Amino acid sequence: MYYETIKQLIRLAGRQKKPIGEIVLAIEAEQENESPSTIRGQMVISWEVMKQALDRGVTDNIRSVSGLSGGDAKLFFARTPKFLNPDVGKAVARALGVAEVNAAMGKIVACPTAGSCGIVPAALLFAKERLQIDEETIITALFTAAGIGIVCSMNASISGAEGGCQAECGVAAAMAAGALTELSGGSATMVGHAVALTLINMLGLVCDPVAGLVEVPCILRNAGALMQAFLAADLALTGIKSRIPVDEVIGAMREVGQALPESLRETALGGLANTPTGRRLRRKLT
Ligand code: SF4
Repeated sequence: MYYETIKQLIRLAGRQKKPIGEIVLAIEAEQENESPSTIRGQMVISWEVMKQALDRGVTDNIRSVSGLSGGDAKLFFARTPKFLNPDVGKAVARALGVAEVNAAMGKIVACPTAGSCGIVPAALLFAKERLQIDEETIITALFTAAGIGIVCSMNASISGAEGGCQAECGVAAAMAAGALTELSGGSATMVGHAVALTLINMLGLVCDPVAGLVEVPCILRNAGALMQAFLAADLALTGIKSRIPVDEVIGAMREVGQALPESLRETALGGLANTPTGRRLRRKLT
């Protein structure tokens, strides 16, 4: 049993009448020559680390060494947003918070990367609280997210240096959207559409960290990507489909990533990093 594409994951889930998360877990156990309970136990540890970062991010006084980030998540968490649903606002604050913890060298789980570490945890905690989901099911959903990330890494990239921020925050959002869709009772096919609909809206996002630090715009992009994940999950759960099959969307992400100039692939030479303020901050901090 193996998979390289989302289509294969959907087919396996259909044949075995199991959530994608359970398929991914079983394959992981087989490949690692471990029992499923051992692999699940490792994910439980990751979820614990995620929860600690989710909590720290909106309660502690976080400040990065550079001084470029920290405090926004706590501020936003304490306010009632004007336009967002208040619960969504809290989730956004949590995504910001985990990314701030990362920027301050705190402990996080890279999912798929450190720069995009806030999206999946914030999405799953939101689903857990809103849908009253038990921990076991959340752990399975983390495997769903992992399977989506694995397919993206095999067929495109999960590295900003290789494929731009679409490969980091974009893939994280796709992982979150797929997991949210499955947690909400969506079919495996809907999970595939959620992934595609997310990536369609993230295609072309460049990697342009100011002063080469994973702070500006990385932290904010965790919030934006989380919103894309919510949108895509809701669209897919409504039955809205991507006109381009999900694996072709992932292929397009690879192509777009390869076409990005080097200046927009984590070199901090283009985009926001190359604005007058970005350059000034770089001179000051390096
Ligand atoms: S801008 Fe670059 S470094 Fe920052 S999160 Fe996106 S991919 Fe990572």
